[in-house]
Amino acid sequence: MYVIVDRQKCAGLAICESISPDHFEIDDDGELAVVNDEISDQNQEKLEQAVRGCPNAALRLAAARES
Ligand code: SF4
Repeated sequence: MYVIVDRQKCAGLAICESISPDHFEIDDDGELAVVNDEISDQNQEKLEQAVRGCPNAALRLAAARES
């Protein structure tokens, strides 16, 4: 499973980063970077919380990476 970001919806609010800082990072320009999109048993719950917590529904999980 991987995390996919809809850049059209993401507003750089950093809620995902606050929930799961191991996966998400907002840069100085307010752009979201997915620093680790691989889901392990150890970090899956935090990542799922971050996906559900995005107020813009900009995050989702997928079975494979998308270009
Ligand atoms: S919480 Fe949602 S809108 Fe905010 S930075 Fe993360 S993905 Fe983007």
